[in-house]
Amino acid sequence: MTDSDRKKFYITTPIYYVNDKPHIGSAYSTLAADVLARLHRSLGEDVLFLTGTAEHGSKIAESAERAGKKPQEFADENAAKFSLAWDILGIAPDDFIRTTEERHLKAVNLFFTKLKDSGKLYEGEYEGWYCVGCESFKKESELVNGLCPLHNRKPELVKEKNWFFKLSEYGPVLLEKIKNDEFRILPHARKNEMISFIEQGLEDIAVSRRTAKFAMPLPWDKEQTIYVWLDELFNYCSAIGYESDREKFDHYWPADFHIIGKDIIKFHCIIWPALLLAIGEQPPKAVFAHGFFTFGGQKMSKTLGNVIDPVELAQKYTPDAVRYFLLREVPFGHDGDISEDKLKVRYNGDLANGLGNLFSRVTNMVEKFFDGDIETVKSPKDLTEVTEAFYNLDFSHGLEVAWQAVAWADALIDKAKPWELVKAEPDKVRELLRNLVALLADLALKLSPIMPDTANKIRQHLEAEKIVKSEPLFPKVN
Ligand SMILES: [Zn+2]
Repeated sequence: MTDSDRKKFYITTPIYYVNDKPHIGSAYSTLAADVLARLHRSLGEDVLFLTGTAEHGSKIAESAERAGKKPQEFADENAAKFSLAWDILGIAPDDFIRTTEERHLKAVNLFFTKLKDSGKLYEGEYEGWYCVGCESFKKESELVNGLCPLHNRKPELVKEKNWFFKLSEYGPVLLEKIKNDEFRILPHARKNEMISFIEQGLEDIAVSRRTAKFAMPLPWDKEQTIYVWLDELFNYCSAIGYESDREKFDHYWPADFHIIGKDIIKFHCIIWPALLLAIGEQPPKAVFAHGFFTFGGQKMSKTLGNVIDPVELAQKYTPDAVRYFLLREVPFGHDGDISEDKLKVRYNGDLANGLGNLFSRVTNMVEKFFDGDIETVKSPKDLTEVTEAFYNLDFSHGLEVAWQAVAWADALIDKAKPWELVKAEPDKVRELLRNLVALLADLALKLSPIMPDTANKIRQHLEAEKIVKSEPLFPKVN
């Protein structure tokens, strides 16, 4: 089969600002996309999983200046930190786009030229409060005591001539596409939120700024720089050859999934599809907006000492344990609370005592009672529900079902007491163990998108000439 015969699956994450380091929120979006990419790859699809970094704008120029670096030098160093973090977490994107790359700059220029040609841009005067932290304008009603509540800083009062996009014209067409799921917004609550937001009426938006530092100039008006958010959104198209390889672009576009955090839903579910329609392209097929974490009931803060660094956790507990924990602890799409203590409970309970212990028990008995030699049979449990749940981004449910099978197997062993039974009825014990080996092999297969290392270990162990007792997959931690 050639690539063009296979079903394609194009999945993206937000691109992350290089003035920040990889944190639990960016890791969460990227992990979920990685799991889906692995799952769809295992189904034989032609998968393209894209992540990257956003490197333009005043926020980055400011951070670079504070670090005593040139913006590009600063961006280079920090983009590398993201790649490294994803690597440590077992996240394997197919492509990593940076908004300072030539392929992106050229594509954004073409995008803006087309936008201008569409007749949907006009010049106007803008006055508003601009938060550099958010890289966006804030409504008076969004400020708390005159400060941006997200950044606790006073936004700048900006009054300038800008280019505007006629977003207000796109309400009806967006509503239709969202309501009939031609453009899917998930989870359902987020879809309703966007519908009611659009129904209140959309306002035109500024697409350029007069004074932004380290931003791209408009192709036809060098006095103006492209509003960084629009430059960034276009990464989803520039990475797949919008400017340079139309065939590739037509193959992968529209994206099958944009995975995002719920804070950037309006950009992705309203502005982005409208811009695409304006330049004659299809909106993405689906956007999934996940929730936010609290940490031991609080917001993460250095003073509270509840800061969770996903990379440090992966180094301490293994990447698979962190992947398992983040997707098991909180249903994907909901807000939820996590902490290192909760991770430890899951680690020792579900992983060390659960899957890990079952695997040691079974391999130990196969080695001891049957010299490591056991027939291959079909799994005694149907675990299709696990894969189906992952497919629908209901990761926690899929894992729950998989761990029900682990508990079932443990109970089966406890009841049969093979260590007592083996002398009198070796055939019964052989049948039990070959079923359990088959179940473990199937579990490894089903869990591999979330726990790729563990799945590999189990598979290699069970496929060996002789099965020997496994070392603990997850040594207990105190
Ligand atoms: Zn802000």
